[in-house]
Amino acid sequence: MKHTETRTQTVSHEETTSITCDMCGAELLKGDFCRQGAFFKTDFGYGSRHDIERWEFDLCDSCCDWLRGHIDVAVTDETWVP
Ligand SMILES: [Zn+2]
Repeated sequence: MKHTETRTQTVSHEETTSITCDMCGAELLKGDFCRQGAFFKTDFGYGSRHDIERWEFDLCDSCCDWLRGHIDVAVTDETWVP
């Protein structure tokens, strides 16, 4: 026979409440579903002076435009598929 009882359990989880641009500090989250800018993550290769480092940062749309004006960014237009 199976005996059961109801127990209350509190579960904690981490939730992102805000994201700011790492260059200018602008707020990137606009409401629950709208996020401006982009998240960048890059690893450096063996022999690089940044070898074993991982860089992660967020930039707002304006700072992405600035970056694109300073480096040759390969831009592709990918359609979002859920
Ligand atoms: Zn910015």
